[in-house]
Amino acid sequence: MATQGTRIRIACAEPLGPGARLLRIERADGAEVGFAGGQYVIINTGVTLPGGKLAKRAYSLLSSDAEQRAVEIAVKRIAAGPGSNMLSDIAVGAELEWSGPWGKLRLPDGFSGRALVVATDTGITAALGIARSAAAAGARQLELLWLVESAAYFLPEPFVRDRLPAAASLTIAGGFLPVGHPERPARACAIAEEQLARGPYDAVLCAGDGAVLYPVRDRLASLGAPEGAVLLESFFNNPLKKST
Ligand SMILES: Cc1cc2nc3c(=O)[nH]c(=O)nc-3n(C[C@H](O)[C@H](O)[C@H](O)COP(=O)(O)OP(=O)(O)OC[C@H]3O[C@@H](n4cnc5c(N)ncnc54)[C@H](O)[C@@H]3O)c2cc1C
Repeated sequence: MATQGTRIRIACAEPLGPGARLLRIERADGAEVGFAGGQYVIINTGVTLPGGKLAKRAYSLLSSDAEQRAVEIAVKRIAAGPGSNMLSDIAVGAELEWSGPWGKLRLPDGFSGRALVVATDTGITAALGIARSAAAAGARQLELLWLVESAAYFLPEPFVRDRLPAAASLTIAGGFLPVGHPERPARACAIAEEQLARGPYDAVLCAGDGAVLYPVRDRLASLGAPEGAVLLESFFNNPLKKST
């Protein structure tokens, strides 16, 4: 169940290559988090933004929901971004607050069909959470497609493969266009279309760059992906928000 203002502690931190940091987090009261794979939490970083608001940032849980007392997130340091820089440098043992878990990017309970998860950029965290939890619940066919600019962009490939359950396969569309490139949505649609041709899929879940994934979702729906079965979580560039 989602909670507000929950006190949490950084139990462990580990660099993951040049672009990412893995944080293992526990509730300060020792209680279970109660999340399902694909969900996220909103961390109050305590950093005050220029307008006076606190920087509260969302992070998907990449650990399996079979383990509820300690969970993992991975943070990419974003240039001058206040939240990601704070979490990239925070000390082990430090305490913060979060709310959550939130989000509906998940496979239905008891899902036994064939699922495609399309992740761009940092969206691979949600893809890992979904895959690990679905496999633990008995899903047998999970295909992950990760569109990412370079090997150094975020999570290293060996880390991702190591965390993937045996039921899941991973295709990396490496050398993908950088965030903000005008041809990114069209290129992503073409790659997703090729992948859909390898279907049929009973469910499609997308996480990452909203500027790319909303067009991908529309394309997949127009190609006959089951109605209502394409779910989307925009990590940034959310076209439904004035700013992200
Ligand atoms: C549901 C959800 C789950 C998320 N999960 C993760 C996660 O697992 N790991 C993670 O690192 N981030 C994740 N994010 C993004 C995260 O919430 C922050 O936006 C990010 O860490 C940057 O925060 P910041 O305060 O440093 O910079 P901000 O001031 O928030 O952002 C600066 C700018 O960078 C953009 N931005 C954010 N992420 C990226 C990116 N990857 N590439 C390019 N531009 C970007 C923002 O939209 C904004 O325009 C998630 C976001 C959402 C909504």
